[in-house]
Amino acid sequence: MHRKITRRDFLNGVAVTAGAMLMPWDLIAANEVSDRQNSPGYYPPALTGMRGSHPGSFDVAHSLRDGTFWDPGVKLIDSGEIYDLIIVGGGISGLAAAHFYRKAAGEKARVLILDNHDDFGGHAQRNEFRVGNAFRLGFGGTFSIQSPAPYSAVAKGVIEELGIDVPSYSKFANRDLYSSLGLHPKIFFDKETFGADKLVINPSPRGGYDTEGVAGLDPGLLKRFLADAPIAEQAKHDFERLYHEKRDYFPGLTSDEKKAKLARVSYASYLADAAGVHGDIVKLYQALPHGLFGVGIDAVSAQDAWGLGFPGFDGLKLDPAPGKGMNRDAIPNEEADKYFFHFPDGNASITRLLVRKLIPDAIPGNSSSDVVLAKANYAKLDQANSPVRIRLNSTAVRVKHVGDAASAREVEVAWAQGGKVYTAKAKSAILACWHVVIPYICEELPDKQKQALAESQKVPLLYTNVAVRNWTAFQKLGTNSVYAPGSYHSYVNLDLPVSIGGYECARKPEEPIVIHMMKAACRPGRPARDQHGIGRIELYNTTFETMERKIRDQLARTVGAGGFDPARDIAAITVNRWPHGYSYEYNSLFDSFWLEGGETPCEVARKTYGRIAIANCDAGAYAYTDEAINQAWRAVRDIKS
Ligand SMILES: Cc1cc2nc3c(=O)[nH]c(=O)nc-3n(C[C@H](O)[C@H](O)[C@H](O)COP(=O)(O)OP(=O)(O)OC[C@H]3O[C@@H](n4cnc5c(N)ncnc54)[C@H](O)[C@@H]3O)c2cc1C
Repeated sequence: MHRKITRRDFLNGVAVTAGAMLMPWDLIAANEVSDRQNSPGYYPPALTGMRGSHPGSFDVAHSLRDGTFWDPGVKLIDSGEIYDLIIVGGGISGLAAAHFYRKAAGEKARVLILDNHDDFGGHAQRNEFRVGNAFRLGFGGTFSIQSPAPYSAVAKGVIEELGIDVPSYSKFANRDLYSSLGLHPKIFFDKETFGADKLVINPSPRGGYDTEGVAGLDPGLLKRFLADAPIAEQAKHDFERLYHEKRDYFPGLTSDEKKAKLARVSYASYLADAAGVHGDIVKLYQALPHGLFGVGIDAVSAQDAWGLGFPGFDGLKLDPAPGKGMNRDAIPNEEADKYFFHFPDGNASITRLLVRKLIPDAIPGNSSSDVVLAKANYAKLDQANSPVRIRLNSTAVRVKHVGDAASAREVEVAWAQGGKVYTAKAKSAILACWHVVIPYICEELPDKQKQALAESQKVPLLYTNVAVRNWTAFQKLGTNSVYAPGSYHSYVNLDLPVSIGGYECARKPEEPIVIHMMKAACRPGRPARDQHGIGRIELYNTTFETMERKIRDQLARTVGAGGFDPARDIAAITVNRWPHGYSYEYNSLFDSFWLEGGETPCEVARKTYGRIAIANCDAGAYAYTDEAINQAWRAVRDIKS
C-alpha cells in the first residue's frame, strides 16, 4: 500500500488544484481544445483513470448553474449550420431519438447530436484494457439489457432492429464458469463496521438479495456463515429467525393495510422495530439495495424490500400483487427477468450499434456480434457531408425558439466547445440530456415545468473497473463475487464471463480479467434526495488518487489472504464516476405523491414546448434503457405532431 502511485494520478490531482485558482470561463477555455475528436489517435474507450463524468466534461454546465457562464467575455459564433433536428445528449435516448426521427423524416434528414463528454453513449460507456497480450472490455455504466418490467414493443423493436437476439444470450454466456471452479459469493465484513476484517461465505445462492427465501438457503453454507461471521451471537440467532419465523408482526391488519404500513417505514426500521433483530443484522443488510437504488435499507421502504425478496415477511401473508407506492424496481416480473443480455462492454454495444445505423462509416461491420470488437473511428462522427453528426466535448448552453414559441419556425441552439460558443439552427430540438440541466439551458420553459425538471435528482454512483494480471487470489479464496456492506465499494465482482463476436473473456485464473466494483455515494439516515445531493458533492470532490488508494486498500483487505498484491497485480484502473447517475425513481418513504396518485413530476417535466421536446430516462423517472428508448420515441412523436 505504501508503494508509489502512478504519474497519471499525480497529474489528475494537480489539474484539479490548479483549476481552482482560475475564473470559470478561463478554466473552461484553458481545458478545452477545439475539435478534439478529429485529432489523430483520439480514442476515449482506451483511456483509464477518472472517466464517466471526467474532468473537463462538467465545468461549463456547473458554470451555467452558478450563474458565471454568461460573462462579457462570451461571444457567440454563428456556425451557419442548419439542421432538421438538434438533439442535446448523446446517450441511448438521444441516439434512439435520432434513429426514430430518421425513420419518420427520411435518411436525408439532417441531425446534430451534442454531448458534453469526450465519448458518445452517456451512461453506456465502453472501457478497454490491454494487459500483456490480453484485450479486456469493461462496462463504464449501463450494464445490460434488463428491466424490472417487460420491454415495450417500441423498445423491443429497436433491440431487434439492431440485430440483437436477446434469447440467444445463453450461446455467449459462460454461466457456469465460476461455479465450475468452486467459486461462490462471499461477504466481506470490515473491521470498522464489524470489528474484524473477514471474508465469509454468503449463504444466499443469489449472492445479493435472498430472493429465494429460506428454501434457497443452503444449510451447509448457512452453518459456515454462522460459524464465521463476526457478528453478535444474538444476531446469528436473528439471522436464522428472519428466515424461519413465520410471525405476523402486524396481526389484525388486512394485506392492503399491511402494505400501506410497509410503504411508509424503511426496511431498516422494520427489521429493528417490527422484527426486533440485533443491530448487526441491520448493518449486514444496509448496503443490499445499493445496486438498485443507490441508497441503503434506511431509505428503501419495507414494502419494496418485500418485493425484492428480502427476508422477514413470510408471516405477514401478503397478497403477491404489488401495493400502491411500490417502486417499479421491486415488482417481480418473470417475463422481464428472462429478457436479459449482457455485452462485455454493457449497453455501450447498443450505443455503438445505433451510431453504426446513424453514421455507418464510424463503426465498421454489420452484425450485433462483430460490433464488440469493431474499432470506432471518431473522426467520422462529425463530418459536414454526413446527414447525422455527433459532436463531442460540446455542452449545450442555450436552447430557444427564434421568436415566439407558439409561432416560431426554428430553434437556435448554442453550445460551448473548445473554449468558444457556437450557434446553429434547426426546425426542432430534443433535449435528451439530464433534466436537472434543462432549466439552465432552456429558460423560456414555463416555471412549473422548470421546477419539475429541477426536482428530477440523479443517483450518484461509481462503477470502477480494475484490470488485473490474474485472479488466482479469488480462486484460492473460493469467490467470484463479494458483498461488502461496510466498505468503500459495496460490491466487488469478477467480470461476467461472456465471449462474443471474436471477443474472448478470461477463463483461467492465471489470465488477466476486469474486476468490477460498485459504490453508491450515500449518507444513511437522511431522505433519499438529500443523500444523493451529498453523495454527488462527495464524488466530485474526491480525487482519483484518493479513490485509487481506497480501491487498493479494499482489494488488499478482501483478497490479500489469497496472495493479491495491489501494486503488483493491478494493471490499470478506470473509475467511471457518475455523480449524475441513475434517474431518480419515486420512493414512497419521501414522495407522498407516489402514494396519493395524480400527475407525477416527470409528466410535468417532459411536456413538449413549441418545437422543443424532452426525452431521457429522467422523463419517465425510471433508470433503464427501455425507458430511454420509450421516451425518445415519445419525444419524436411529439415534435412531429
Ligand atoms: C452506473 C449506471 C449503471 C446502469 N446500469 C443499467 C443497466 O444495467 N440497465 C439499464 O437498463 N439501465 C442502466 N442504467 C440506467 C441508464 O441511465 C440508462 O439505461 C440509459 O443508459 C440512460 O440513457 P439516457 O440517454 O436517458 O441518459 P444518459 O445516458 O445519461 O445520456 C444523457 C447525456 O446527455 C448529456 N448532457 C447533459 N447535459 C448536456 C448538455 N447541456 N449538453 C450536452 N450534453 C448534455 C449527458 O452528459 C449524457 O451524456 C445505469 C445507469 C448508470 C449510471
